[in-house]
Amino acid sequence: MTRIKENFPLKKHNTLGVDVKARFFASPQSIEEIIDLLENSRELFPFLIIGEGSNILFTGDYNGLVIKPALKGINVINNDHEHCYVEVGAGENWDEFVQWAVESNLAGIENLSLIPGSAGSSPIQNIGAYGAEVSDAIEKVNYLDLESFEIKSLSAADCLFDYRKSIFKTQLRNRVVITSVIFRLNHNHIFNTTYGNLQTEVEKTGSLSLAAVRQAVINIRNSKLPDPKITGNAGSFFKNPVVGKEVADQIKENNPLMPYYTLPLDMVKIPAAWLIEQCGWKGRKIGNAGVHEKQALVLVNLGNATGVEIRDLAERIRDSVYKKFSVRLEPEVNII
Ligand SMILES: Cc1cc2nc3c(=O)[nH]c(=O)nc-3n(C[C@H](O)[C@H](O)[C@H](O)COP(=O)(O)OP(=O)(O)OC[C@H]3O[C@@H](n4cnc5c(N)ncnc54)[C@H](O)[C@@H]3O)c2cc1C
Repeated sequence: MTRIKENFPLKKHNTLGVDVKARFFASPQSIEEIIDLLENSRELFPFLIIGEGSNILFTGDYNGLVIKPALKGINVINNDHEHCYVEVGAGENWDEFVQWAVESNLAGIENLSLIPGSAGSSPIQNIGAYGAEVSDAIEKVNYLDLESFEIKSLSAADCLFDYRKSIFKTQLRNRVVITSVIFRLNHNHIFNTTYGNLQTEVEKTGSLSLAAVRQAVINIRNSKLPDPKITGNAGSFFKNPVVGKEVADQIKENNPLMPYYTLPLDMVKIPAAWLIEQCGWKGRKIGNAGVHEKQALVLVNLGNATGVEIRDLAERIRDSVYKKFSVRLEPEVNII
């Protein structure tokens, strides 16, 4: 039976490093243990499933049960001349799985190197970086349905993947525990190095291989993003807003240098970091919370910031971006 710990410190279980406690905490190692825990407790108090806490902001102690599934295993379940299908337990570390894939000569997720978090969380916000999204490599997601306590699966198409979005953030939010993900990796190596300065960084390694792309991505990320082990952060705090062309045109009129990406249906994506920077927030500090000096999209814990301090800073940033540009920023981070 899973051990339930009381008044459990969560500081090491959220990358923002917020010092809060869970009233109860458990890390079940099997699906049966998860069912057992939830059957016995969910009528009594609220529960929260976490992975590695790299996309969560706790604004206070959690007065319920925090469950961190420790479902492990990286298993090849099928192999054909084109693809290798690999089932990965939700509790496996994402980047260790990417490393495993690269070392196994399997392509498809190398651009997603060094993204923090667990494999089980990767479909939730459809993690993406350097021109790749995890949805391109997902075959199926297996989950425990918390109404029926049955194991179910969804094909990638049924996961309704979108930019930092999936069915697990909408209809199925708080209604499932993802137990494993089946990835479809490629034996053929088709490299995708057109994003930003990735190609230049790959060339510096002197070869074009999965390992070279992984190393290039790691180098770029390490030079740009604060290491959560040193400076608490949750990566990009806000999503890049998608607005109608007329809104973007209006902003561009007064800001001809505004960066933007055109999307189908006359929509335009504007980098949230640019909007935040234009409002003068880059590098600013308020109390123990701040905006990273190199990356305006990353909010940082400068020491002992409380979750409320970080949330208030995020609110002030949202307000000033709205005031200046009439664009509402949506948090990418899950605020609890
Ligand atoms: C330095 C840094 C850089 C980052 N860079 C990127 C990036 O480039 N691209 C990107 O997309 N993201 C990035 N992120 C965000 C983060 O890494 C991802 O969102 C990651 O997938 C979160 O995984 P996690 O296990 O930490 O999830 P958590 O933060 O623990 O949880 C996230 C959400 O998923 C839910 N959840 C977790 N596990 C389960 C489960 N098994 N079943 C059901 N629900 C569950 C939680 O309740 C919560 O709502 C970055 C974060 C940091 C700190």
